[in-house]
Amino acid sequence: AALAHYADMPKPDTSPKVCFSEIFINNEWHKSKSGKTFKTVNPTTEETIAEVQEGDKEDIEVAVKAARSAFKLGAPWRRMDASDRGRLMYRLADLIERDHVYLASLETLDNGKPYFMSYNVDLPMSIKCLRYFAGWADKNHGKTIPIDGDFFTYTRHEPVGVCGQIIPWNFPILMMAWKLGPALATGNTIILKPAEQTPLTALYIAQLVKEAGFPPGVVNVVPGFGKAGAVLANHMDVDKVAFTGSTEVGNIIQQASGNTNLKRVTLELGGKSPNIILCDADLDYAVETAHFALFFNMGQCCCAGSRTFVEDSIYDEFVERSAARAKKRTVGNPFDLKNEQGPQISKVQMEKILCMIKQGKEEGAKLVVGGSRPKGDGYFVEPTVFADVQDDMTIAREEIFGPVQQLIRFKKLDEVIERANNSQYGLAAAVFTKDLDKANYVVGGLRAGTVWVNTYNILPTQAPFGGYKMSGLGRENGEYALSNYTEVKSVIVKVPQKNS
Ligand code: NAD
Repeated sequence: AALAHYADMPKPDTSPKVCFSEIFINNEWHKSKSGKTFKTVNPTTEETIAEVQEGDKEDIEVAVKAARSAFKLGAPWRRMDASDRGRLMYRLADLIERDHVYLASLETLDNGKPYFMSYNVDLPMSIKCLRYFAGWADKNHGKTIPIDGDFFTYTRHEPVGVCGQIIPWNFPILMMAWKLGPALATGNTIILKPAEQTPLTALYIAQLVKEAGFPPGVVNVVPGFGKAGAVLANHMDVDKVAFTGSTEVGNIIQQASGNTNLKRVTLELGGKSPNIILCDADLDYAVETAHFALFFNMGQCCCAGSRTFVEDSIYDEFVERSAARAKKRTVGNPFDLKNEQGPQISKVQMEKILCMIKQGKEEGAKLVVGGSRPKGDGYFVEPTVFADVQDDMTIAREEIFGPVQQLIRFKKLDEVIERANNSQYGLAAAVFTKDLDKANYVVGGLRAGTVWVNTYNILPTQAPFGGYKMSGLGRENGEYALSNYTEVKSVIVKVPQKNS
């Protein structure tokens, strides 16, 4: 039924032209200083889509200078009315919307995610995010403060300055929007490094930034590998780094800040999110939503419900129905609207997932569905379900980032809260029940940045998102995101005589 609903959506462009593959600095396109390029690969066919200019240290240096210059006192971006910053952002959102079909198609080509998802989820969420933050541009203001003595005191919310933004490959456009939105609304300048696996949509949007009329140097996009990201993280003239990706690299970035100029750091990292199903939950709905919680985006979600805790009395039934649902999952060409699942992003990720499936079997979990790579081209992995998973197994502790569901049995509420929290991660969690008291009790007990009740993967631009513990630092989205891109200045002015 869901797929029928999409039948009248615009058809994808299954071979979208690659218009931009160079480095975007100062609103101009540049070749890499080193002369090096890298290939971006179509994960569905394993064929090269395009050669992209590889940004490295020297290119990052030029981009940082451009961003610094755009941030200079008196520069157009600094002199611009806040409301006009907002207008430019609305215009960027409108241009992305104008090219909705093209961008959704290019995203599917480069990333492998089903077109009906890029068209109906990634693009609308990105457009809404930019519009939401555009509205904040002239609303993020300070306070006047009644301090003691003959003084007038107020706070200014000022931009942090030059921001490095390093993003992953799982939601290329959306992660770009989550990063640009709050940074531009608050008046910062940006060097964005897209993931090496998926540079194409970020480069196209860079051209739209220019078309929208942003002054040169405000947004710079430098495609390249982790070492280009590391140059940003270690740069003495970068004021802030925002990173989304693995916890391992998040650690390195935090250390780079400590080793250099204590630049502000925000991190959105990994997760092993618990999804707790109590026995009174609507079983059909809980099975379907737990399936979606894990398999959405080929399991490549930092907030994937990758530990499904199911109450003892419904456990066997839940396993049976989850297995049946996973078996029905349609896998294949992501441009084909009937397919729910495309390939994993890369050979490396596919092999890592297959290796973890092997480990799951070796450690004694029961493989009930899937477990292999289907025959043919592309980095596909079968929808896989493990039952009888124990808390200390590798597949219950480490992020798999693939279509592999772990079904874990529990008996008591207090016990499951403790087990759910027994992780280095704390990004998201969910509970399914009709009992309001139990739901509230679980919500209060879970150590996670987002808790869903009777739903999953709802990520609105208006609500903050981010991790406890090793899942991250700071919050994206919502009003809370603005503080990550704002320095607060207290201004204390001597006055002749204060009156109340
Ligand atoms: P990664 O963390 O290596 O890459 C993410 C981004 O960081 C990319 O742009 C990459 O070029 C850059 N990067 C890599 N090393 C860097 C460094 N030393 N300094 C600065 N930037 C650097 O992630 P990956 O290797 O693509 O994926 C590995 C695992 O990370 C996945 O299996 C998954 O568990 C996790 N991951 C999480 C998310 C998320 O949304 N939280 C996204 C992608 C991957």
